[in-house]
Amino acid sequence: MNKTDRLPYDLVLMEAIKDMVFIVSVELSPVLKYEFFNQAVFERTHLTENDTGKTFEEVFHPATATLLNKQYKKALETEECVVYEDSYLSSSGESYYSETMITPVFNQKGQCTHLIGVVKDKTDEWLTKRENEETWGRLKESRARYRSLYENNIDAIFSLDLNGQILTGNSTVEKMTGCPLNTFIDTNFSDHIIEKDHELLNSYYQLALSGISHDFRTKFIGCAGKAIGVLIHFAPVKVQEEIVGVYATLKDMTELDKMFDQYSESESRFRIIAENAHGVIVLMNHEGESLYVSPSSKRVYGLDPEEHLSMPPFHNIHPEDIAQVKEAFSLAIQNAETYIVEVRRKHKSKGWIWTEMQGTPVFDEEQQFVHMLTISQDITLHKEREMQLQHYAYHDSLTGLPNRRFLKDFLSEKISQSTEAADVLTVILLDIDHFKEINDQFGHEIGDAVIEEFGKRLRQSIDKHDFVARLGGDEFILVLPDIKTTEQAERMAIQIQEAVALPWNMENDSLEVKVSMGIALTPLAGATGSSILKNADVAMYESKVAGRGTYRIHCL
Ligand code: GH3
Ligand code: MG
Repeated sequence: MNKTDRLPYDLVLMEAIKDMVFIVSVELSPVLKYEFFNQAVFERTHLTENDTGKTFEEVFHPATATLLNKQYKKALETEECVVYEDSYLSSSGESYYSETMITPVFNQKGQCTHLIGVVKDKTDEWLTKRENEETWGRLKESRARYRSLYENNIDAIFSLDLNGQILTGNSTVEKMTGCPLNTFIDTNFSDHIIEKDHELLNSYYQLALSGISHDFRTKFIGCAGKAIGVLIHFAPVKVQEEIVGVYATLKDMTELDKMFDQYSESESRFRIIAENAHGVIVLMNHEGESLYVSPSSKRVYGLDPEEHLSMPPFHNIHPEDIAQVKEAFSLAIQNAETYIVEVRRKHKSKGWIWTEMQGTPVFDEEQQFVHMLTISQDITLHKEREMQLQHYAYHDSLTGLPNRRFLKDFLSEKISQSTEAADVLTVILLDIDHFKEINDQFGHEIGDAVIEEFGKRLRQSIDKHDFVARLGGDEFILVLPDIKTTEQAERMAIQIQEAVALPWNMENDSLEVKVSMGIALTPLAGATGSSILKNADVAMYESKVAGRGTYRIHCL
């Protein structure tokens, strides 16, 4: 049978249909050979006109040929239609899913002469089915996820209808409230909320029904009337864009409330202390930025707490004290220790004041640094007193000049500073001649005034690097580091004699003062304060012996 033997409408029909039509002739043995392909076959497979008259093995891959043989022979043997599903790749590489129906055709003798294979393209159908399966699978998965989210949620979830009636709830409801779930079913959600919040609850519920979700804090009444602090979230349940109910999610806030209470208790304790404290309390972060400044900042620094807070870290600390403060600050964090430093701070109007700053690092439960709590006191008065005491300890109260203790330190310093082996230190010891007589003749007060004036004249006679001290009674000393020769020392001695020779203008013009001087130029190598004084003493002795009003030099 060839194309031209067939009826034209038969051909037209076969060419017109979208299905592929294969006509296979059954020859003896039996051998199956392609006899006809319609246009759809040429469009979707690699077969051409030239393949007519060929067997399956001749045109297909062995596996495909075996399958085709099996199906076509089945139709031949059973003399019935065979239907099977298959998939194949088109000549352009696209995947096709198909349903093939093989129909045996018999001649008048009842012999099967042809098998007609009609391959229906089921690709779209198959893809739709698969998509449906996937969608269904996804739906099933999302339902499972939803159930899991719902059931295993750590928050209690109630499903409410449009009137707020409870339809159901998850298992957390029982855990949180201590009541069986069925005690809530068909009751109104508001029945379980403390009464004072009913109005608020209702307004948030209405908002949820209009599609707006909100969180709010209230108390849920659980088993035996126990109020549980909760955070409620109302979320509308939408089905096909229509709100059909509301999910109420309840977060148990008991633990958080407890922590908050503890915090606010300690916070309010902190504030009460801080706000009434005399010193300035400052909470700082690890960079030294102020997070809290107590009101006493105004009194101590002249700065409002807000003004203080806006300043950079360590803003009012004296430049010379900043390094010390920063070091103490970081060491305290490192070693988890309290530090105390005395630092100068700028008062807005008074200038520099002395403060004692005590810093305590505060750590959290994980031992992480949280804050530095500093308390600073104004210690200016204390510091002044301390400095005054220090001054008294090292100065003579009558003349204000350094005393013997100060001299000792000064000499030690000079000796330790000396680097050259040949370096000498010149001192001039002075003792007023017959001072007892001045006291006796003019009175002790005049005697005091003479000592005071004598100290003043000495101070005026020396340079800024020189040092003058009153050793006691009518005895003074000059330490002259710049004088390195006896000539220079003598010139100095004469200068002092001249200063002393000036009129004293005290009560009585007859008051005359003379002084004996013992000059010592002592090599500093191996010298001590006492050895230097001893040398000057020797010279002084000689000077007194020489008749007073003069000087002698002791030179090694
Ligand atoms: P010399 O020539 O040997 O130095 O005899 P002097 O009279 O000056 O006696 P000396 O230096 O040995 O003693 C100093 C006297 O100064 C002893 C004491 O009576 C007197 N004196 C000591 N301290 C004070 C003081 O603070 N005020 C007064 N007015 N007199 C003092
Ligand atoms: Mg004397």
